[in-house]
Amino acid sequence: MIERTLVILKPDTVQRGLVGEIIQRIEKTTLKVVAMKMVYASKEQAGEHYADDQEWLISVGEKTLKSAEKKGIKLSRTALEQGQWVRQMLMNYITMSPSVVLVIEGHSAVAKIRMLCGGTSPQEATPGTIRGDYAVDSYMLADASERPVQNLIHASGTIEEAKREIKIWFTDNEIHVFKRVDEDLIYRKGSS
Ligand code: GDP
Ligand code: MG
Repeated sequence: MIERTLVILKPDTVQRGLVGEIIQRIEKTTLKVVAMKMVYASKEQAGEHYADDQEWLISVGEKTLKSAEKKGIKLSRTALEQGQWVRQMLMNYITMSPSVVLVIEGHSAVAKIRMLCGGTSPQEATPGTIRGDYAVDSYMLADASERPVQNLIHASGTIEEAKREIKIWFTDNEIHVFKRVDEDLIYRKGSS
């Protein structure tokens, strides 16, 4: 199914000059960049993107608690408290310096881009993924330093999340409808 997903090349990517490198990896999959801009996120945009949504906050916290548990560490915060704390740090971080936001379109775009990113914590992300190849950060190091895990890239987790997030960063007329020259081959019909 042809889907759209939102990608944010977060401030660490822009600051480290990795924008081109990461976009190249996305383009090479044959997924299509249909919108792109550099933004200095406002507090409002940051607050909407990292929504004050209980389910998401708990899911953020739970991932961290599980990772700590595997290492035999017991965190004092609940999943919700961890999620709320992370949200505050994310909102500060994403508004600190510019990011590059993109809409990516193509077959299974949401899941494909998530696979390309790798796991949330670069320490545990598989080599070959963006987070696995270009970062070493971990939940523990980031928490101890009181900042979000520096993992370079945000990508929507589901189609619904993508629809909600794209509206925060782009108007309809900033998302372009066009054909890549390789599309006829990629989505080819028939066997002759
Ligand atoms: P993602 O979808 O893989 O980006 O991960 P989440 O949606 O769960 O979390 C959003 C972002 O918050 C992550 O990309 C990290 O930058 C950051 N983050 C998540 N969990 C933690 C945590 O436990 N501690 C810290 N310091 N940052 C976190
Ligand atoms: Mg997420």
